[in-house]
Amino acid sequence: MNARIDQVATAPQARLPVRNPRTGACDAFVPVASAAEVAATAARLRAAQRAWARRPVAERGAALSRWADELAVEREALVDALFADTGRWGISVGEVDGALRNLRRWASQAPGLVTETEFPSALLPTVTIRDQYVPYPLVGCISPWNFPVTLSLIDAVPALVAGCAVIVKPSEVTPRFVGPLRRALARVPELAAVLEFVTGAADTGRALVSGVDAVCFTGSVATGRKVAEAAAARFIPAFLELGGKDPAIVLASADLEMATDVVLRGSIANNGHACMSLERVYVQRPVYAPFVERLVEKARAVRLAYPDPRSGYLGPLIFEPQARVIQAQLDDARARGARVLCGGEIENLGGGLYLRPTVVVDVDHTMTLLTEETFGPVIPVMPFDTAQQAIDLANDSEYGLSACVLAGTLDEALAVGREIDAGGISLNDGCMTYMTYEGEKNSFKYSGLGGSRMGAAGLRRFFRKKALIQQHGRAAGVPAH
Ligand code: NAD
Repeated sequence: MNARIDQVATAPQARLPVRNPRTGACDAFVPVASAAEVAATAARLRAAQRAWARRPVAERGAALSRWADELAVEREALVDALFADTGRWGISVGEVDGALRNLRRWASQAPGLVTETEFPSALLPTVTIRDQYVPYPLVGCISPWNFPVTLSLIDAVPALVAGCAVIVKPSEVTPRFVGPLRRALARVPELAAVLEFVTGAADTGRALVSGVDAVCFTGSVATGRKVAEAAAARFIPAFLELGGKDPAIVLASADLEMATDVVLRGSIANNGHACMSLERVYVQRPVYAPFVERLVEKARAVRLAYPDPRSGYLGPLIFEPQARVIQAQLDDARARGARVLCGGEIENLGGGLYLRPTVVVDVDHTMTLLTEETFGPVIPVMPFDTAQQAIDLANDSEYGLSACVLAGTLDEALAVGREIDAGGISLNDGCMTYMTYEGEKNSFKYSGLGGSRMGAAGLRRFFRKKALIQQHGRAAGVPAH
């Protein structure tokens, strides 16, 4: 399957249109891989996987490093492709550079993480046990549109270095980066033998799940549930990284300049199109009014990255249907008595849909704005009295991805953070989980399932462990009878 992205003029029929979020125009098409094509790709990669897995881990890492070098050659094309699909410039540059760092990091760290050992049996003096790490032959990675390159490679890279073959299916909303990425891959043939990208939408994703030995899915809870059910029917592991409704708790002792900075940044970065975006803010009553006042001041000062994508901060909303979700949540909140203090109106500028940072008060948990994922630059703020109330509000959610606590001291923040049911808690900062690869964390509740993608577990989850039980003495026969 060649996932080449063609321009409109040459586009054949059986392809999906790709929308440019800055213009609103569909200016490219993405090929749709059929189930038969996915199966053929799976067969090809499986045939090459055993030889790949037999190579020493350092050699696999070296191949990934070579790919990073080749990707660096394609850096400009990758950034252009990401920019065309997402409409944001600086983050596209950051994504490409981050992907290169991620490749090189795993290449250098992996050899230290997969050392097999031999140890004596506790019960049988003549027996030793060797453990063997056996990679899943073929891993499927399915990714969303909010960080197209980062989330297409975040699981694929450790799976490859573990010795798996990998098929990636990126979101059909943001697939243009696949072209330059595959060009670079073709120049590293040993890796191209075990890594492929297939493009398409839900049908292609379903076909992928039905043909792999483990699946890494990043996306919505609704789709994650379908993927988990399909994986369960096949008894294959599903590593699910799903949505969030991350709370920020601001205690009265917090430095309000710092707290408003963190909340604003954590809520609107990448337009709020981030799973670990801060989507509800609880502020202790004595500082509630000054906090809101300062937050609104800062929110009003944020400029749109329009018309010049390289200046300003907020680009267009990437996925048109998400604009409708955001609008519906704001309408519901207003209808229930919420007040929008700034932002709040989706603007059409040159065909792109933009929303300025939107601070909403007089909110409560009857509103979808406080309970369902918004995925936009919207900041609902609610007061609380005691730390226990804040903890109860934070935990009153179906989600448990991450959270942050802002307080006068780290000890105070830690005491609250320990009580929050979520996998990654930033203390006196926000949304740090994407920058701290070392900290293992699980997604709680509906935010996900399966081993940590961070830390050493991010690699080790791609192995099954085998015990090679060695008898050094004489094996026993049937006891005297
Ligand atoms: P989505 O669930 O709509 O789609 C994700 C991917 O699944 C796409 O590639 C899509 O084509 C594919 N897909 C759709 N139906 C499928 C099926 N039946 N079987 C297999 N694959 C199928 O999600 P989205 O709108 O692209 O992304 C936004 C969501 O992703 C948000 O909920 C966000 O929180 C979540 N997300 C989570 C993380 C995390 O690490 N926890 C990171 C980023 C985004």
